Amino acid sequence: MMKIQDLEVVLDADAGLVKAIDGLKLSIERGETFALVGESGCGKSMTALALMRLLPENGRVTGGQVRIGDVDVLDLPEAGMRAVRGGRLGMIFQEPATSLNPVMKVGDQIVEAIETHTALRGAAARAKAIDWMRRVGIPEPERRIDDYPFRMSGGQKQRVMIAMALATEPDFLIADEPTTALDVTIQAQILDLLKDLQREQRMGLLLITHDLAVVSGMAQRVALMYAGQIVEVAPAAEFFARPLHPYAQALLRALPAGDRRGVALEAIPGTVPPMWLQFEGCRFAPRCAAAMPHCASTLPEMVDASPTHQVRCLLHKPGVPAAPERIAPPA
Ligand code: SF4
Ligand code: MG
Repeated sequence: MMKIQDLEVVLDADAGLVKAIDGLKLSIERGETFALVGESGCGKSMTALALMRLLPENGRVTGGQVRIGDVDVLDLPEAGMRAVRGGRLGMIFQEPATSLNPVMKVGDQIVEAIETHTALRGAAARAKAIDWMRRVGIPEPERRIDDYPFRMSGGQKQRVMIAMALATEPDFLIADEPTTALDVTIQAQILDLLKDLQREQRMGLLLITHDLAVVSGMAQRVALMYAGQIVEVAPAAEFFARPLHPYAQALLRALPAGDRRGVALEAIPGTVPPMWLQFEGCRFAPRCAAAMPHCASTLPEMVDASPTHQVRCLLHKPGVPAAPERIAPPA
């Protein structure tokens, strides 16, 4: 199990120190697909980078804990972290083109990952690489293993990235917008592939996306992020049927019925507040159709709407009678 507790990340930006991630808390079981969803700039990718300890130079973790099983990821020395990264904890990024080394054959890159993180060497590692290339759907892997990345399409490169990440049999895989750079039919194929492999390997998958359609087809649970904070966590089916946070409700209302694939979250009025903005109250208040006078001055805490469903909104604070017509889920 991967457990993130009160994670806090600060960035040193032009405007001064800004809190990019504030009190993030979630846990992912092995064998589970957990979606972290939100508009761009809300802190999703920063979360992934913090978990991998790959934050940019101007960023640092200023609080919290990340545990994978009994390993405290944030406390590991860098050498130990290198073993975890690409070993127990795999990652695939949005841009396969920039993640692969352009001057190294794709097969050698997979072999290198296998040799670094497993006991296999030489011919055995190469055989394993070929086997994984076949499993991720690359035709003629015995021949393609000696290709350079430029000879492959975007979709094939992303398949190579997946092969490289999974060949070391990670317990958890972080996939940050793994299909955003690909065209729609390839996107669906890659997502199906990830879904199958996640099941076969019984990995935990943290799927980061701005696309709610991807979430509904893939994830068992969802966390919605807004301006550096998680504002709602729920089982996916419940999130889509009964979203509680006004932001979630607005997003789901904004989705066209029927084919939802490819719809970005940027469909609701207003924009994510810039990170340097200080908040006294609810970060969503400027965009919230249900905002109450005290929302701008009172900080909403995460509250349990049920044992599996949490929401950060003053309408759901126990003991505060809410105007029911305001929180009715979208028709
Ligand atoms: Fe809207 Fe207030 Fe809830 Fe924030 S706390 S989401 S402003 S109702
Ligand atoms: Mg991102």
